[in-house]
Formats: sequence, C-alpha cells, structure tokens
Amino acid sequence: MEQMKFEMGDLQQDAPKRMRKRRPPRKKARGLLLVILLVLAAVAAFVAQLDPAVDELADIRTAVSEAVTNCIVHAYPDAIGEIILQARLYPEGRVVIKIRDRGCGIEDIRQAMEPLFTTGGEERSGLGFSVMESFSDKLRVTSRKGKGTVVTLEKYIAPRERQAKTN
Ligand code: ATP
Ligand code: MG
Repeated sequence: MEQMKFEMGDLQQDAPKRMRKRRPPRKKARGLLLVILLVLAAVAAFVAQLDPAVDELADIRTAVSEAVTNCIVHAYPDAIGEIILQARLYPEGRVVIKIRDRGCGIEDIRQAMEPLFTTGGEERSGLGFSVMESFSDKLRVTSRKGKGTVVTLEKYIAPRERQAKTN
C-alpha cells in the first residue's frame, strides 16, 4: 500500500495573521484556486502510479475538487483553516482519498447530501455531494458540529490490459 499525506495548513500558515483571520472575498477566491490546483496536481501525481485512464483521473480530480471547495467555502467561511488530504493506493487498484477539515462541521449529513440542498445562498447550487457521488465509486461523510468533517472518496482504477481488451 502506498500512502500520501498533504496538509494545506502548512501552506496557509505562511499567510500573515490578520489575513488568516478575515480575508475579503476576492482574496479568498484567489486562494481557493491556488489550493485546488496544488491539491489536484499532488493527487494526480500520486495516482499516476496506477496508470489511470484520462477519464478515471478526471473523475478523481472532479470529486476531490468539490470536497476541497466545500472545506474552503463552508467549513471555514470567514477564515483560512487547515485542510488535510490523505490518499492511499491498494494493490488491486483501489484509491482511497480522505479530505478532512477542522471547521464548523455539518449538523445533518443526510440533508446536506441531498441534491440541491445548500446553505451557500444563490452562489451555490447544492450539487457538490451529488457530483462526488457520481464521480467516485464510494462516498462516505462523517462530521461533528464544531469539530470538522471527513469526506472519504473511493475509486477503482481498472488495470490497463483489461481496458485495452474492452476498448
Ligand atoms: P455547490 O457544491 O453546488 O457549489 P454546495 O457546496 O452548497 O453547492 P454541496 O457541496 O452538496 O453543495 O454541500 C451541501 C451543503 O453541505 C453545503 O451547502 C454546506 O451546508 C454543507 N457542507 C458541505 N461540506 C461541508 C464542510 N466541509 N463543512 C461544513 N459544511 C459543509
Ligand atoms: Mg459544494
């Protein structure tokens, strides 16, 4: 089993204290893009060990990007907080990715996962969890109010020989 751990908190600690406390929305949006790009690059490089097809990698990137966006937008709405990403590869081609935050937590997970449910107002469409569900093979969400949230995504990467035969 191969394992990767990537902590965005480390990057974010470099920001001056007052920026960490409260940032205007524009700056946060820019920070969000940078964090997402870094995370996706790290995940892609790690998963490349399993030689995934372009579509499989795109699915993982989409699901991870939704989960990390949620940490930034919902878990830490007025601040920059720690986001921990952990990825494991298993020999049979299973990739397990955990995205963890220590933010506000989710009170009612079932309700949060319903398509179109959002607490994000008009800017959000409430489809993030639905996207994560359809772009991964398994999705698990655990959360504690005031403590944080863990999103676990699983994806199977088909062996290349099998793919070649079916194509
Ligand atoms: P979209 O993803 O379409 O922009 P959204 O983020 O509101 O909209 P989901 O990603 O499905 O939709 O999330 C649904 C709701 O679950 C959010 O509105 C928010 O209330 C809650 N939520 C999701 N992730 C977290 C998190 N990491 N911390 C706290 N609350 C969260
Ligand atoms: Mg979302």
